[in-house]
Amino acid sequence: NTVIQLEKVKKMYAIGENGFWALKGVNMQIDKGEFVAIVGKSGSGKSTLLNLLGGIDTPTEGRIIVKGTVINGLRENQLSRFRGDTIGFVFQFFQLMPTLTALENVLMPMDFLKRIPSSERRERANALLAKVGMESHAGKFPSALSGGEQQRIAIARALANNPDIIFADEPTGNLDSNTSEEVFRLLKSLTDEGKTVIMVTHNNELAERCGRTIRISDGQITEDIISNYER
Ligand code: ADP
Ligand code: ADP
Repeated sequence: NTVIQLEKVKKMYAIGENGFWALKGVNMQIDKGEFVAIVGKSGSGKSTLLNLLGGIDTPTEGRIIVKGTVINGLRENQLSRFRGDTIGFVFQFFQLMPTLTALENVLMPMDFLKRIPSSERRERANALLAKVGMESHAGKFPSALSGGEQQRIAIARALANNPDIIFADEPTGNLDSNTSEEVFRLLKSLTDEGKTVIMVTHNNELAERCGRTIRISDGQITEDIISNYER
């Protein structure tokens, strides 16, 4: 049950008159429900890969197929619809809107996409906050919350439109180890529900506990390990 497929994907950045190949021909296949860690040194191409997978940037060559659709053939308005319907994003620095409460942050993607009827949005947002253990913080602003609490709310927000795929770019990079563990378990629980989670991380211990670890070096996949680690 393939959710994401990459065929000979290359990405070149123009630097003045020169080109720099940030990805040099990446092939990969990811199935529904997988928890994939993307690891590699700074500058190896991880963010570039995530941006291509998420339809934020387009490849120079090759094809990216998400749920049967070749996304690098989509126009910008189709792409933005695709992102909203299919993908939730989680970031290292949470990126919650500081002027909105936790509840309002979770409502925002629903109000944007308008796929969930407006009469159901508040109840859904509250249910998502409960799912991540943050129901008692619904009325608080991000500045009144710890990093771990903010990340839980960011995960609730990522789930707002019920995406099939969650991309998490260093979701524990700004959290202490206990809080990282909680966020990791929360992301893991999403894969148990059939969501596909792809996480860029520098945390080797957590990476090893994902079902699969893909290593990127110098724009290429150099390792792809599927583990049976009991997590
Ligand atoms: P960028 O997204 O800017 O290319 P990275 O995602 O590679 O940067 O790195 C994010 C942060 O993690 C940086 O501050 C970097 O210094 C730090 N970092 C890089 N490598 C490691 C590592 N092996 N262990 C811990 N932190 C790292
Ligand atoms: P990582 O996330 O693993 O740190 P990136 O995907 O951010 O790596 O970057 C891969 C390489 O591409 C790096 O050498 C980086 O300097 C380069 N790069 C990234 N974005 C751009 C850009 N917009 N223009 C030019 N070079 C870029």
